[in-house]
Amino acid sequence: MKDIMQFIPDELARLKEEGLYTNIKTLESPQGAWVTIDGKKKLNFCSNNYLGLANHPEIRKAAKEAIDKYGVGPGAVRTIAGTMSLHKELEEKLARFKKVEATMVVQSGFTANLSVIPALVGKGDIIYSDELNHASIIDGCRLSRAEIKVYKHNDMDSLEELLKADKDLDCRKLIVTDGVFSMDGDIAPLDKIVELGEKYGAMTMVDDAHGEGVLGEGGRGIVDHFGLHGRCDVEVGTFSKALGVMGGCIAGKKELIEYLNQKARPFLFSSALTVPDTAAVSKAVDLLMESEELVQRLWDNGKYFKAEMQKLGFDTGKSETPITPVMIGDAKVATEFSKRLFDEDIFATKIGYPTVPKGKARIRVMISAAHSKEDLDFALEKFAKVGKEMGLIK
Ligand code: PMP
Repeated sequence: MKDIMQFIPDELARLKEEGLYTNIKTLESPQGAWVTIDGKKKLNFCSNNYLGLANHPEIRKAAKEAIDKYGVGPGAVRTIAGTMSLHKELEEKLARFKKVEATMVVQSGFTANLSVIPALVGKGDIIYSDELNHASIIDGCRLSRAEIKVYKHNDMDSLEELLKADKDLDCRKLIVTDGVFSMDGDIAPLDKIVELGEKYGAMTMVDDAHGEGVLGEGGRGIVDHFGLHGRCDVEVGTFSKALGVMGGCIAGKKELIEYLNQKARPFLFSSALTVPDTAAVSKAVDLLMESEELVQRLWDNGKYFKAEMQKLGFDTGKSETPITPVMIGDAKVATEFSKRLFDEDIFATKIGYPTVPKGKARIRVMISAAHSKEDLDFALEKFAKVGKEMGLIK
């Protein structure tokens, strides 16, 4: 009889054959500039720990103290078990940091997108989504059951064409985009997107996962970067990247947040962010409000590394941020490059399909404020060595 589960080993074999299979590494140390894997130290270029906060002593201390005061778990969903004062404090602090009226904290950035999109639009409505938007935006759009119209990446003519064609339709419309596109490091033209939203009566939403702690004054994000306070309807954020912890948030007008508190399904049906996470994020926001030093160091590191990689002859794509893609193309070549770099103590994962389009495989270097100049020079030497050995550069 046919094995009804045979598709699983078949699919795994196909992924391996096509160089699309990811071997997940096990870390024996905290996240930081260097990590320990199989007992050996590796220079870490894989983490979204942009500011090096994932193992910051003050953040660790804040999490421990909160556990002593509040325990670990939230008990249940907030509408049933109540909201802890920790959550309220964090939401108010985030609103001050992001210069918005209110915020709502959820369990992750992924969950934030699943929370907000289906709450804003539904059957009969229309979403305009950038073709390179993150998977969590795509899933949020699908869950909403609204019609999804995809515009060309960062292409405002393409977006306007779609909006113009629908201008007489009387339904809710939502334009949604990543702020910083994490696989390429380019920035969405949010100023133009907001203008188009205002012109055609569409709500605008940005997922600022990779802009928070990176763009704007002191890392206040993409809305601050473009000076769009009060004009972009919904800002989604995550605490898992620059803030070094875990969790997500939605920021905007007071009424939007009150509405989401009543309507967003992951808020209503999934328990709140844990105590240590909440306290840790709160401390991370304090640190960002106290000093811009880490954000500046991140940018200095990014500029230095990218310029030196280009001098070596590598194609670093069109990044406008410290994210540095090293474009390879073929997934198998990228896998081999990553493997050889790992043997030289550089941990830089290959990114391939379906995370990026087929034929656009790359090594994505995630620069952090935690890296020292010596770390970056060590990496440049290794990239040059392996790149030459593989014939990728001269
Ligand atoms: N949005 C974007 C643009 C992301 O890059 C990510 C993380 N890869 C997420 C959302 C999900 O964030 P989290 O890890 O907090 O779930």
